[in-house]
Amino acid sequence: MSPRPLMFFGTTNLDLCFNVERLPTPGESLMGSLKQNAGGKGANQAVAAARLGLRPSFYTRLGDDDAGRSLLQALREAGVRLDAIEVCPGEISGSALVLVGDDGSNMIVIDPGANANVTPSMVEKAAEFIERDAIVVAEMGMPVPALNHLFALKSVKEFDLIFNPAPVRAGLSPAAWRSVDFVTPNQTEAFELTGVEVHDFDGAAHAAGKLLDLGPKAALITLGAQGAYYADASATFALRAFPVKVVDTTAAGDAFNGAFAASLAHRLPIREAIKKALAVAALCVTRRGAQRSMPSSWAVDEFLN
Ligand code: ATP
Repeated sequence: MSPRPLMFFGTTNLDLCFNVERLPTPGESLMGSLKQNAGGKGANQAVAAARLGLRPSFYTRLGDDDAGRSLLQALREAGVRLDAIEVCPGEISGSALVLVGDDGSNMIVIDPGANANVTPSMVEKAAEFIERDAIVVAEMGMPVPALNHLFALKSVKEFDLIFNPAPVRAGLSPAAWRSVDFVTPNQTEAFELTGVEVHDFDGAAHAAGKLLDLGPKAALITLGAQGAYYADASATFALRAFPVKVVDTTAAGDAFNGAFAASLAHRLPIREAIKKALAVAALCVTRRGAQRSMPSSWAVDEFLN
């Protein structure tokens, strides 16, 4: 059976990555080494899925600048479909300053640039690229009115919706929440959405119950090195992360979301899809960078066998 169509909506950024011995304290100057990497949550997720052998569509806004051109090239090389992407004259591409310590921890500051200017009508136009029976993935870097509009399109187009609420922002409508099939926060985002601290699987179970009260059909919380917790109306379970040597956790959540979506598109059952997402995210944290750290399906199969 052929895979289901897959489309991502979200941000693209040029990541200015400094590798430092440890993260600085306020007022401190440190020496580090700089590398420019293609990043942005939506772009990372689309690339993660493309590396697993799919040809996902992607909607994002880029500036008509050098950064935009290199970001577009990175998406093209990864195998992401570019038809829905807008390149916007007079706007600057999004960028992020990323500090990564030797222990793999990170600190990130983002200038959203063109990502901040997505309107409901732009999303409406991009949604023409959502094919029948598609899986759609959206993250929260896009303006919330645009997200509300995208989610409302579920009533006229048939698709399954994965919502990665990162970074958490206010204003998603109750109807939009009810249209979500899978909400996929990390521990911090689950806390911001529910007020429940998620330190372990017990906390995740409590937070997942509150997330389901918001309206989504299922909640899937990632807990870093601990793994992931899943809950819907009829099943709950936790799956442990694969133990690996961490080099850089940047984009671990994006690897997880892109791989989870790709696995559903490949028609894997939910538990298997989460296991594959855990494997892809584990491989991602063993490599530096964002998009460049997404493993191929070949590497994932080898890791799992
Ligand atoms: P980031 O912001 O760094 O992209 P996140 O905070 O969105 O990540 P996490 O919950 O930290 O998301 O991690 C997502 C997934 O990545 C986890 O569920 C796990 O599968 C994998 N992961 C993260 N850290 C580790 C680790 N140290 N060892 C193994 N897997 C990890």
